[in-house]
Amino acid sequence: MIQNYFHADQVAPFVQWQSWAHNYLIITHISPDGDAIGASLAMMHYLRSKNKNVTVMVPNDFPDYFLKIDGAEEIEVFNESVLQLDIINHADVIICLDFNDVSRIGALNFHIIDAYCNKIMIDHHLNPQKFCDLVLSVPQASSTCELVYHFLCAIGSHKNIDRKVAQSIYLGMMTDTGCFSYNSNNPDIFLIVSDLLSCGVDKDYIYRTVNYSYSADRMRLMGYALCISMQFYRDGQVALIALADKDMKRFNYQPGDTEGFVNLPLQILGVKMSVLIREDKELHKQKISARSVGDIPCNEFMAKFFNGGGHKNAAGGELEGTLAHAVKVFEKSIEDWELQNNC
Ligand code: 5GP
Ligand code: MN
Repeated sequence: MIQNYFHADQVAPFVQWQSWAHNYLIITHISPDGDAIGASLAMMHYLRSKNKNVTVMVPNDFPDYFLKIDGAEEIEVFNESVLQLDIINHADVIICLDFNDVSRIGALNFHIIDAYCNKIMIDHHLNPQKFCDLVLSVPQASSTCELVYHFLCAIGSHKNIDRKVAQSIYLGMMTDTGCFSYNSNNPDIFLIVSDLLSCGVDKDYIYRTVNYSYSADRMRLMGYALCISMQFYRDGQVALIALADKDMKRFNYQPGDTEGFVNLPLQILGVKMSVLIREDKELHKQKISARSVGDIPCNEFMAKFFNGGGHKNAAGGELEGTLAHAVKVFEKSIEDWELQNNC
């Protein structure tokens, strides 16, 4: 028996909204990943099964391979068009998935704060900001998709989990746990997966869609990152990959091409934390990702030095300025950090 994260009382406001609300807007974080896309599509398919009018809107583009997931072709990338602003203004309910802070939704930020409607957050990041009427935040959950499953059960809609809803939920549960290789020791996760499979999910298809859909350029960029960029610090315990805009352009960079790169150095014996810095020339900033093993809190590292946050073993942040500056900050911070953490 799966222990539901939510009580009926907790989700009751949403059930009440459903009795009158028709227009639903689903939004998620910038650079949407599998969990963001999966949770959004799961809610979209579910609400459509209840004959609701639903739009999924994301702050910026997502990797092409997600287009193989049912419904992804309908996702709107926010461009501030009159039509999109109209959709936001006419929403009865806005569903915020897989983010805890409006700073994570790029240019959608003020439109969502200003929207006069009911808002719900379903998320698994620490310290949710208060911008929603209903906040369903469970940091110990492995993914927002896992929470969407619990949510649908809690509102009495388990029977509405059809193949499309199940496939979307599976996508995020798989990607946010590195294909069930970390953060996934809770036995309930596998009871949920079992249930999703019995709804008709082809898990091998989802695995191939996400992991075997890369371009030759992306593989070459990965080779470059490992062979040329990767550096080690602290006696090989910390790895850094720094990718300049020109390096990425050389390999015809497409959105999502560096997805997963930050995990690679952790496969090396002795590496306990891995950091990827990626130059975003258009926005004049550096995007930083960090991954760690065990008790090393890379979210604290990101919060302290890179204006970021996230989970203990997977976090991110950003820094204004050049790539060289970001590398310098990293090199200094990894030494400073040594004073407080037994990394
Ligand atoms: P990724 O490295 O895959 O971009 O992000 C890993 C985790 O860190 C995600 O859970 C994400 O929510 C969090 N994260 C990524 N970038 C940022 C950021 O700029 N600020 C904060 N607060 N969290 C971030
Ligand atoms: Mn997530």
